[in-house]
Amino acid sequence: MWRRIAGVAAAWLVVAAASAALAAGAAPETPPPAPAAAAWFGLPLPGPATEQTIDFSQVDLPMIVAPAVADAPELEGRKMLRYVEDVAAFSYASRAAGERSWGRLAGTPWAEHTVDYVAEEFRKAGLVDIVKSEVPFLGIDRTASDWHVTLLGLPEFGPGSTNVELRSAFPMGQRPEGPGLPAKDETLPPVTTLAVTAPLVYVGAGTPADLAGKNVSGKIAVLRVEPAPAIFYSNAARVLPQQLINAGAASVIEIYAAPGNLQVHFGSCVDAPCFMLGGEDGEFLMMAIARAAAANVLEKLQLSLSQTIVNSRGLHGYLLVGKVPGNNHAENLILSAHSDAWFAGANDNASGLAALIALAKHYGRGHRPLHDLYFVVSPGHHSPTGATQSLVKLYPQLCPANIFTINLEHIGGQGAYPSTFNPKGMGPSTSRYGNAEFLYEPVNWDSPGREIMGAPLTATVKSALAEAAQHAQFTGPSRIATGAIAELGPVVAAGATGVQDVEVNIWYHTSGDTVATVAAQTLQRVAIFYRELLDHMDHLSRAAVRAGAQ
Ligand SMILES: [Zn+2]
Repeated sequence: MWRRIAGVAAAWLVVAAASAALAAGAAPETPPPAPAAAAWFGLPLPGPATEQTIDFSQVDLPMIVAPAVADAPELEGRKMLRYVEDVAAFSYASRAAGERSWGRLAGTPWAEHTVDYVAEEFRKAGLVDIVKSEVPFLGIDRTASDWHVTLLGLPEFGPGSTNVELRSAFPMGQRPEGPGLPAKDETLPPVTTLAVTAPLVYVGAGTPADLAGKNVSGKIAVLRVEPAPAIFYSNAARVLPQQLINAGAASVIEIYAAPGNLQVHFGSCVDAPCFMLGGEDGEFLMMAIARAAAANVLEKLQLSLSQTIVNSRGLHGYLLVGKVPGNNHAENLILSAHSDAWFAGANDNASGLAALIALAKHYGRGHRPLHDLYFVVSPGHHSPTGATQSLVKLYPQLCPANIFTINLEHIGGQGAYPSTFNPKGMGPSTSRYGNAEFLYEPVNWDSPGREIMGAPLTATVKSALAEAAQHAQFTGPSRIATGAIAELGPVVAAGATGVQDVEVNIWYHTSGDTVATVAAQTLQRVAIFYRELLDHMDHLSRAAVRAGAQ
């Protein structure tokens, strides 16, 4: 697939940079050029990186209340929210320790603290056979340890235009993504440094029309992607940066046009110092491009990029397994959640761990299941730990006897809506740079970005999902699709029947994924939904659940 596109890219003609300048200058929202009498064409300088910037406590209508949990007090949303806070705190500790790639990445102490925390909660829940196992990485881990993204100042941009560091910049991954990409040769030195200084070419959303007539060769291509509703499935973030590098771009900067100045970890760009950029830094950069083009100095506008990548060998993550025994040991149920995260990872996936702990306490303290119920903390899928491959390897008897598996994957997000209504009057809201912008408003309901994926999705599984969704007022899913990715992949391949509710919102894989975006009512609603689904399946056999499976 990428070959075909790369072929087209190679055919791009070398066009005078004036065409890029013309395209940028012609954008309808661009205000008339200011004389470069002040530094940086008179543009306000962007601030530091931010977390999410919406006040989720200011909802116009109160949060829709989840069904009561009188019979299951462990599933109270406010209790689960405390687990979310505790787990997010491990990420903040990593940031406080000075780690620029912060979060709960597998192979770090912060991931192990997370696993140990859940293990302690499993003990309190009365789980048995709790085992924490080391999981060796399947390859080299490539994590950026330091970086700089600097827009280089010149007098042509206005007197006093000194260098501007874009502080939300966050490196893209160094592992190939997407189908058909060659495996990476991993004979790497312990540390790699990548650096590029080059002029810019703005390529918008990177569609064929955006790229038409643009020469990216030797330049830093600047892409812009909007959350719609997130970047989870975004081709422009997952695949396009590498295609632009393959087409000769020196590097790629991708602006994530979301409120605030978020750090974003997404995308893949092997052996080039590519970065995601937060909304405020991105708008400053776009306006600098527009003003420089209008002043005929676009060719002089340069970014200096550098990235230090640590290539770690011999790292390991942890798999944690505990059990609530039933009376029937011949078949089993599995609940799982991944422990690793980028940034605070409150929704992805402290929320999943919170539901895992709450359900462990629910079943471990009296609501005994009929079948053995396993609780699994996966080492994760952001590093090469193989997700649940280690579960399949260390517990080979589980999946062939599995009735049903639920992977708890970012489940607690409160809804936010990109409003087109400007409370100050008709017409869109405008940013501090004078551009039209959406106002993201919190709403009184769960995040709508839910998709249930699973396999095999038999008639029994679908009707059980529908029944549980009705009783639990579960808002999602917007769709139910067959697929077994991430934590579900290895277990389904080994014979399990599983589902997960991958909810992605605009904070996904960003520094905006904070506890404030997770709602107690949402957690409670989703936990009740999963309890009902699990109880339903517990009364069936493996054969009944998989009847009709292809
Ligand atoms: Zn996740």
